Amino acid sequence: MKRFTLILTMLLTLIISACGNGEAGDADAEEDGREQIAVTTTFLYDMVNVLEEGVDGFAVELVIPAGEDPHVYEPTSSDLRTFNEADIIMYQGLDFEGRMVDVLEDGVAVAENLSNEDLETMEEEGEEVIDPHFWFDIDLYKVAMQNVMDILVENHPDGEAQYQENLDAYFSELEELDQYVSDRIEEIPDQSRIVVTPHDAFGYLAASYDIEVHAPQGFSTDSEVSNNQIQQTANLIVENDINAIFVETTTNPDRMQRLQEVVESEGGTVEVVSGGENALLSDSLAPEGETGDTYITMYRHNIDVIADHLQ
Ligand SMILES: [Zn+2]
Repeated sequence: MKRFTLILTMLLTLIISACGNGEAGDADAEEDGREQIAVTTTFLYDMVNVLEEGVDGFAVELVIPAGEDPHVYEPTSSDLRTFNEADIIMYQGLDFEGRMVDVLEDGVAVAENLSNEDLETMEEEGEEVIDPHFWFDIDLYKVAMQNVMDILVENHPDGEAQYQENLDAYFSELEELDQYVSDRIEEIPDQSRIVVTPHDAFGYLAASYDIEVHAPQGFSTDSEVSNNQIQQTANLIVENDINAIFVETTTNPDRMQRLQEVVESEGGTVEVVSGGENALLSDSLAPEGETGDTYITMYRHNIDVIADHLQ
């Protein structure tokens, strides 16, 4: 049924384009003289913007809006038009944009060539799959960023020196970020270093730093949380005396309320850390102008919220 809807949407888009609406964008791009890049996620949008500083070689369009969940996002007819008009389409891959696979056929998957040895696996409906949330491993993020730069240089060789300078400067900032994350995790007492979130987005945080993560839900944000998983996580919280669990901006907060109720029924207490300024940013950066609207501020925000509440 979903597939049918997608095909219908694509057909409609073709009809709309044929009627002339789609041509306005092309004309703009020609006037502008810059090639257009369509990127699926806020992470890629941030990477391209960091690299483009002082070059401005491309017009960059973000497809999945900040705050939307890329695991379940389905392209609109306007998104399909954006892809049609783009000279370059960049997406993350590793099945992160799981419902856009068909429309991303002509795109470049930025994370697809990350080494299998460096990638974590996770469980999805009883099967081991590659964990797509690589961005919480800063080293992998650097590799992905290098991939993005290579694509930009290939298509705009004049910008190479500036792109390289921007990349080097940014890598220094990422090293500072890495140190900051380590330091803040060190502040948390050993036995409290357990982060419970609604979905499995933080596996690479656990792989990179001295902290554990647990999510009562399987891989994707659209799977139903079974009572069994909730019960197991509640037991873990009570046994380890964990005093806070976290919500994410892209996942329904009700799940954590339910978990809190089960913890209380077991005689424990746990705070659900939520609210605009306190929700963790996992699968999307914040909308522009809000805390966490860049990769670095997102990571600092998350680690501050975690470290402040797990004391
Ligand atoms: Zn996710």
